[in-house]
Amino acid sequence: KESRAMMFQQQHMDPDGPSTNSNYCNQMMRRRLMTEGRCKPVNTFIHEPLVDVQAICLQGNTICKNGKPNCHKSSSSMKITDCRVKSSSKYPDCDYQTSHKERHIIVACEGNPYVPVHFDASV
Ligand code: ADP
Repeated sequence: KESRAMMFQQQHMDPDGPSTNSNYCNQMMRRRLMTEGRCKPVNTFIHEPLVDVQAICLQGNTICKNGKPNCHKSSSSMKITDCRVKSSSKYPDCDYQTSHKERHIIVACEGNPYVPVHFDASV
C-alpha cells in the first residue's frame, strides 16, 4: 500500500511539465490513475521541484478547508495546472479542461518527516 506522501506525489507532482498542449489534463489524469472507477472531478498538478513543494510544510501555517489546522501556504507563487472535468464528460471517457496558472498553493502536511499529503487550494 502506498503512503499518503507517495500518493500526493502521484496525484499532484509534475516538476518537468507541463507540455504545452490542451490535452495535458486528459493525458495526465489517466496516466496518474485518477480516472479509474470514476473521473476525479478536480485535481491540480504542480510544476516545481519536489524539494520546493516539500518546503511549503515549513511555511505559513493556515486552516484547511475541512477545518483542520495542518495546512501551509507557499511563500512564493508556483506554476500549476488545474484540471476540471467537463460537464459533458462521460465516464470512462474522462474529459478535462486544462488551465495553466501561477498561484500560491495551500497543502496539508502530515507525519515525520512532515510532508505534503493533500492539495487544499490555490490563491
Ligand atoms: P487530494 O485531497 O490531495 O486531492 P486525496 O483526497 O486522495 O487527494 O488525499 C488526501 C489525503 O490527505 C487523505 O488521506 C486525507 O486523510 C489526508 N489529509 C491530511 N490532512 C488533511 C486535511 N487537512 N484536509 C484534507 N485531507 C487531509
